[in-house]
Amino acid sequence: MSAISVRGLRKHYGDVRAVDGVDLEVPEGEVFGILGPNGAGKTTTLEIIETLRSPDAGEITVLGLDVREDQRKIREAIGVQLQTTVFFEELTVWETIDLFASFYPRSLPVGRLLELAELQGKARARVNTLSGGQHKRLSIALALVNDLRLVFLDEPTTGLDPQARRHIWEMIGHLKQGGKTVLITTHYIEEAEALCDRVAIMDHGRIIAEGVPGRLVTEQVPESTISFRLSPALAEEKLESLPGVVKAGVEDGTYRVITTAPHETLMEIMALCRREGVEAREVNMKRATLEDVFLKLTGRTIRS
Ligand code: ATP
Repeated sequence: MSAISVRGLRKHYGDVRAVDGVDLEVPEGEVFGILGPNGAGKTTTLEIIETLRSPDAGEITVLGLDVREDQRKIREAIGVQLQTTVFFEELTVWETIDLFASFYPRSLPVGRLLELAELQGKARARVNTLSGGQHKRLSIALALVNDLRLVFLDEPTTGLDPQARRHIWEMIGHLKQGGKTVLITTHYIEEAEALCDRVAIMDHGRIIAEGVPGRLVTEQVPESTISFRLSPALAEEKLESLPGVVKAGVEDGTYRVITTAPHETLMEIMALCRREGVEAREVNMKRATLEDVFLKLTGRTIRS
């Protein structure tokens, strides 16, 4: 049984088609990401699955339960981190977790949750004194309070610096190791690539591509770019005839070779340089990313 199954989901706000026919299937134990720019419809999709908003159309089940008919049962079976979480500022971190835990018949011990969020040192600190990263980690800890198998995280690292973001990635990595199913939304490419078993790319309310991140990139944008400088110079045609090369060019002394077989091409470039007595410097290989997939499919970057 899928943890989450969504068929033909639609949601309009007046004239805005926030979600315009979305299908998703998330098996148990998977970290599944919805990646897309601001306004793509990610939060709306997530919150409908969480039973916090109602769909206009579609068949949506969570752990086999229908979002229209079994809202209470679903809410008892999932852990949710909202995009913005407002805490009682006067409470300490410990008290905040303890308060949330009291909402549920069964919960993890507060000490364990502090450990999961690496907030042991902040147990007695008031929540309004936490840094952005600590605040986010606390909100994720609250989604784990009842220790359920299905966890929803809505843009868990938005606005955080790279170090704080990595900290949260580690936390999500532990959830995965613990066998939880995680549905996460993000507009960070690296986050989707680092965390997700599968990712759905969303734009204007639709899923425009879906799959294992690495495979999605290779299928959609198989070309990599190798760039380098040479002294003395070489004729571009010699590079163009190497195996895998789609295109070769040089601009301001920097050669760029586009290839579908990056490793093979790189070795051939090195061999060619040796034969010709040419020295290669500043060699760089850039593989395509999910950003390139988005660019290819929409003509825009995710952050624009
Ligand atoms: P973000 O990352 O900015 O949260 P998102 O991908 O999560 O973006 P949504 O928040 O689901 O996107 O919004 C999708 C579209 O629906 C946007 O155009 C948004 O302005 C609109 N929208 C979302 N919620 C409402 C609402 N309650 N009332 C009216 N329009 C809404």
